[in-house]
This record gives sequence, structure tokens and C-alpha cells, in this order.
Amino acid sequence: MHREEIIPLIEKAEQVFLSNFPPESCFERAVFFSWGCSIGDCTFCYMSTQPDAKSPTETKRSMESIFAEFILAKNLGWDIGFFTGGIGVFSPAEQELLLQGAVEITREKIWLSVGPLSRTLLEIYQPYIKGIVGSTETISPELHKIVCPSKPLAPYEKMFLEAKALNLQRAMTFIVGMGEKKEDLTLLKAFIEKYDINKIHIYGLIPQKGTMFEHTAIPSAEEQAWWIAQLRIAFPKLDIQCGIWEDRVDRVSLLLQAGANSISKFKAAKLFGTKTAKAIEDEVAKAGRTFKGTLTKIPNIDWDAEVDRLSFSPELKEKIKQKLHQEYLKRMKKNTNLFVSKKA
Ligand code: SF4
Repeated sequence: MHREEIIPLIEKAEQVFLSNFPPESCFERAVFFSWGCSIGDCTFCYMSTQPDAKSPTETKRSMESIFAEFILAKNLGWDIGFFTGGIGVFSPAEQELLLQGAVEITREKIWLSVGPLSRTLLEIYQPYIKGIVGSTETISPELHKIVCPSKPLAPYEKMFLEAKALNLQRAMTFIVGMGEKKEDLTLLKAFIEKYDINKIHIYGLIPQKGTMFEHTAIPSAEEQAWWIAQLRIAFPKLDIQCGIWEDRVDRVSLLLQAGANSISKFKAAKLFGTKTAKAIEDEVAKAGRTFKGTLTKIPNIDWDAEVDRLSFSPELKEKIKQKLHQEYLKRMKKNTNLFVSKKA
């Protein structure tokens, strides 16, 4: 697909976007509470290459690490894309506690992505969540069987119906580059309509070593933009997030012009203040959008006071401060100083 071929489509999509949203964009951070997965065999996923030895419950992050990340995201102006982690890693009571803490920090309800949830669990989590994310990944039934052999769509479809009945918002994911066909757009549009989806995350394949996609080319910027633009035109008010990666920062302006609202899947904490992070902000400006938040400048705030205002135990607060200062802020400052000295 050549850039010239899609220019009329992109122009139309951009018009639709600007008629429905302010010319802004932001970075969305997905916060993980664990790294393990009890499904583990999606054929595009890094998890499918991991030895079975480690139980998902052994891959939990500490509370201080999770909460430090929420504090960081909040104060850098990042939206929380979703709170996510392995299915069954935490008990419902533990999950609720984490949600409670996260919401106290962000001061708003968040999106949750923890596999298909029953109505009972949706009701338990409802005070803390604005909506749920179904990691649907692709929509063609044949392709879905290949890429997600143990993660069928049906339980997610059920959850979307339950969520709608409870007045919770519904989001889904779609990965471009795994073998979908343009004709699948009809199926995707029908799915969005049927479940009244409010938000979609349009990612591009990341060819993980050891998976069947290891040697597959990444989808081009035009391919990813095509899906975004088609959905923007079909669903003017749909919240569309584009997933990028550090090797595809230069496509951000096109994806935004195609009608994406926000950007995700960039290692924003690790690469904060680097040339790559700055390139994202420049791409947003190139698309004529204002970037809310920052990927490059550490705000001048009292981080300890941000922790002290929380109702957590003194021990937990102390650990959160240590994480914030000794891991996140230290690295971010180092990156920022390096970038400034390289420029000088
Ligand atoms: S895509 Fe999600 S469910 Fe599938 S193996 Fe990876 S982490 Fe597990």
C-alpha cells in the first residue's frame, strides 16, 4: 500500500476527527500488575515463548512498584490505557484492593483488562472502573483460531453484553499485521456495532523471537493507518488508540491524521527524555495536535507530597517513595541529562 493511495482516505478521516474531537493527543500507559499469563499460547505473544516453569502467581509486581507507576503516570499527564495482568494472578479481593489504590492515585475510574469477567466480578469492580477491555486481537474467526487458540472470542462477547447492561464502557484490541484481510473490516465494523464498543486499541504486530511471526515484516504505517482511518470514518466518536513501538515512532503523525486519539505501547518510562521520546512529541505537533502531558520534561513537583497525601500505610508509602526516586526518576533524570548534553 503506497502513501499516495491512502491520502484521500486519511484526509477524510482527519476531517471527521476534527469535527468530533479537539486537536489534541496524549500518551496512554498500560500498567501491568504481573507478567505471567495462565493462557500463554497466543501465537504472536512473547508469553508463548516462555517456559511453563513459572506459575503466573509468581510473576506479581510489588504493590509499591505498581502504585509508583500510577503516581508517575498521573503526574506526567499520561492517561491510564488500562490496568492489566495475568488472569487469576490475584484473588478478587486483592484485585479490588489494587483497583482501590489505583483510583485513589488517579482520582478517576480506570479501564481494566484481565480477561473475560463474570457479571459478579464486574459488579465488584464497578466502583473503580470506567470500563473493561477485551483483548480480542483479531476478528476473523479463522485467523483468531490460529493466533489465539485458547482465548476464544465468545467469553469476551458475553462480557461486553454484561458490561453494557451494567453501564460500563467497552474496549477491544486489534493487531494489524497478523494476516487479516481488508474484507475483515466488515466483520470488525459489525462487531463494534453489535457490542457498542466505545474504544479500540489498534496495534501493529511486533514480531517476537520464537513465535510463528518472528520473521514476519511489521505492518507498514499505511496499513495501520488504513484500519484507523476506516474506523474513524465509520465511527466518528469512537475512541481510537494507536499502538506504536520504538522502531515506528516516525509513523505517529500519519496515525493521528488517520484519526487516532491517543498513542500507546511506547516504553515511556524507560525511554523518557530520550531522542525517541522527543520524536513522538514532534510527530504529534507535525499532525497539528497539542500533546497533553509530557514524555520529555520532568515536572517540578514534590513527589513525596504526592505519596504522603494517600491513605496507604506508612511502610507502603516509604517503599513507594523509594521506587519513585531510585528507579523511575533516577533513570528519567539520567536520560534527560544525557539528551541535553548530546544536543549541546
Ligand atoms: S496475548 Fe495475552 S492471553 Fe495471549 S498469551 Fe499473551 S498475555 Fe496471554
